[in-house]
Amino acid sequence: MTEKKLLLITFDYELFLGERSGSVQDCLISPTNKLMKILEKQNLKSYFFIDTAYLIRLKEAARDHPSAREDLESITAQLVQMVKYGHEIHPHIHPHWKDAVYDAKQNEWSLQNRRYYSFASLLTEQQAYLFDQSIATVRLILDIAKCDQPLDSYRAGGWTIQPFEYFRPLFIQYGIKYEWSVLPGKYQISDAHNFDFRNAPEHNPVYTFDLDPCKIDQKGPFKELTISSFSMNPYEKWLDFKISGLLQRLGQRPAFKGNTVSSIVREQGDNQCKAGFRREIASFEGLNQFRIRKYLSDIRTKEYVHFISHPKMLTNFEFKMIDRFLDKLNRDSKIQTNFRELLA
Ligand SMILES: [Zn+2]
Repeated sequence: MTEKKLLLITFDYELFLGERSGSVQDCLISPTNKLMKILEKQNLKSYFFIDTAYLIRLKEAARDHPSAREDLESITAQLVQMVKYGHEIHPHIHPHWKDAVYDAKQNEWSLQNRRYYSFASLLTEQQAYLFDQSIATVRLILDIAKCDQPLDSYRAGGWTIQPFEYFRPLFIQYGIKYEWSVLPGKYQISDAHNFDFRNAPEHNPVYTFDLDPCKIDQKGPFKELTISSFSMNPYEKWLDFKISGLLQRLGQRPAFKGNTVSSIVREQGDNQCKAGFRREIASFEGLNQFRIRKYLSDIRTKEYVHFISHPKMLTNFEFKMIDRFLDKLNRDSKIQTNFRELLA
C-alpha cells in the first residue's frame, strides 16, 4: 500500500429482517439520500451491498400490488442514481426472505421464520438460483445506469459466509473476487447468525485466501477485505456509555423503524478483545462526539479502515456526526476510498 490510507465506507442496503421490516421510505430511500448528500459533499466513494433476496421477493409482490411496485421503482431509481454518483453496488443475500410474508395493507414485510437464515440451509439448487438471481438483479441496475463497474464483490447476510464451501463454486462461476464479511476475532453461534472469525488473522486486514476466508492462502483466487474494529479501554468504554445514555435521554436515539432479527444465541464473543476492554465494530451507527475523536486518533496509525453501517439504523443525530467525522477525516489524512486503485 502507498502512504495513502484506504478508507472503505460500506453499507448494507436492506430493510429490517425481523417481525416488521419497516417501510422502504424510512429504511432505505430517505436515509440513503442523506448519506449520498454527505458523501458527495466530501467527494468520497462508498460501497453498497444490496439485499438482493429482498428485491427478488419485491419483484414478485410488485406484480399484484401497486404499493410494492412503487417501492421497486423508488429503489431502482435510487440505485441507478447511486452508481451514477460513483458508488459501487454488490450483492448481499439474506436467504430467509424466502419465507417472508408481505402485508399489502401496511406495505411492509414480516420475516419471522429463521430456518433459512444461513445460505448453507438452502438446497444446492436453491443456492445456485438465489445467487444467479442476485447477480442478475445487481447487473440490471448497472445496465440501466450504463455503468461498467466490475461486479466482483460480496458480503454475506448476517456475516454468515461460513461454511465457505457453499459459496466458493458460485464465487468462481460469477467472478466474485472480493469478500467483505469477516470481522476478525468475533463469533456468534445462534439459530440465525452463525459465524466464527476467531481464526482470522489479527494484524493483516487484507489477505488472499482460497478455501477458508479466515485463512491466508497466497495462491488463492479471492481477497478478503476485513471489517475494522476500534478497541476501547475501560475508561473509554465508560465515557462512551455515559454519552450514549445522555443522547438517549435527550431524545437523540429514537426507536428503530422496524424489528431486527431475534435469535437464540448459544455462544458469542470476541477473542481479540483484552479483558475489560471492548472492540467496537467500525460503524457510523452509534457515532458520537467522543467516538469521532477516538476514531480519528486511532485511524492516524492505520493504513486500512473498513466501516460497515446500515442506512435503516441511522438517526438524524448520527447524520450530523457522520458529516463532521468525514469532514475531519478528509482534512486530517490522505484518504483513498477506491479500493481498486490501492489493491489491484
Ligand atoms: Zn444484512
